[in-house]
Amino acid sequence: MQKSILIIGASGQIGTELTLKLREINGKNAVIASDIHEGNEELMQSGPFEFINAMDFERILNIVHKYRITDIYLMAAMLSATGEKFPEKAWDLNMNSLFNVLNLAKAGLIKKVFWPSSIAVFGPTTPKENTPQNTIMEPSTVYGISKQTGERWCEYYFNKFNVDVRSIRYPGIISWKANPGGGTTDYAIEIYHKALLNGAYNSFLTKDSKLPMMYIDDAIDATIKIMDAPPEAIKIRSSYNLAGMSFTPEEVSTEIIKHIATFKISYNPDFRQSIADSWPKSIDDSKAREDWNWKHKIDLEKMTKLMLKNLSLKYQE
Ligand code: NAD
Repeated sequence: MQKSILIIGASGQIGTELTLKLREINGKNAVIASDIHEGNEELMQSGPFEFINAMDFERILNIVHKYRITDIYLMAAMLSATGEKFPEKAWDLNMNSLFNVLNLAKAGLIKKVFWPSSIAVFGPTTPKENTPQNTIMEPSTVYGISKQTGERWCEYYFNKFNVDVRSIRYPGIISWKANPGGGTTDYAIEIYHKALLNGAYNSFLTKDSKLPMMYIDDAIDATIKIMDAPPEAIKIRSSYNLAGMSFTPEEVSTEIIKHIATFKISYNPDFRQSIADSWPKSIDDSKAREDWNWKHKIDLEKMTKLMLKNLSLKYQE
């Protein structure tokens, strides 16, 4: 059967680049982008787009029939920092969108689901260094609670209804094509924009706030790899730990100074500091490496070069 993909939340930071990559691999008409608002020009010109509210089951069903969808990537969510401002809305969106998609798979209307979890499933009582796959999870944000609950439901739908759902606990994702959507790791994107625009950045996290991070190309690669793996290789049906690199605001700043010698950073932590303090500093992702051959490629040095090069080209346009 021909693969036909629907991406819900395609206009966001990760959805934009995931859509572009999946279109490059599968052909533009095999990948339907959808969101509640239009994406950037590159996304909108790259293939079909439909307006879908992830909370609207009938609308998703309609599009699934229209394009004979086989695989759904559910990227719509309210992220950690925004979720703390609107806890009930975050819970509603993050849970109901997942049930909508899992129930389509349970009914046999689609074959495969990708749903991203996050390092936010961990909390202040989790071991912080090299956080294992299976460990204490007591998330302290509404976003983290929704992701942890989502993981339980994914595993439940796999065990009870044989739903082929696959998931990754993304770390903070760094990219330059689409803007970040209100997460705690957004500083590591803003810093590159401000370095180029103002030569200075005021960080909302302290200089030693070490967090797990990943460049977008590695995140997209992992997403496509886990979805392409044979079902028997996917031994964890809640969500896999995934790691690329870990760094602090001070370490990014040191790396930027290698390219922009006059760059200055200051620190003015806000409410996001306590979210960052509750998360791991580094992640043990050996299960993903063993089960479906995950390998990251990009470290802080390479990422800094890529971010500064791509953003300066973007600002010249
Ligand atoms: P984002 O906020 O950039 O994008 C989310 C997209 O969903 C937006 O385009 C938004 O318009 C859309 N959306 C919001 N409500 C919707 C609705 N009701 N119906 C349809 N679309 C709706 O988020 P992102 O950074 O691209 O994250 C994608 C997924 O990855 C999310 O599940 C997020 O929790 C997860 N994740 C992201 C990161 C990260 O660092 N970016 C880290 C861990 C996990």
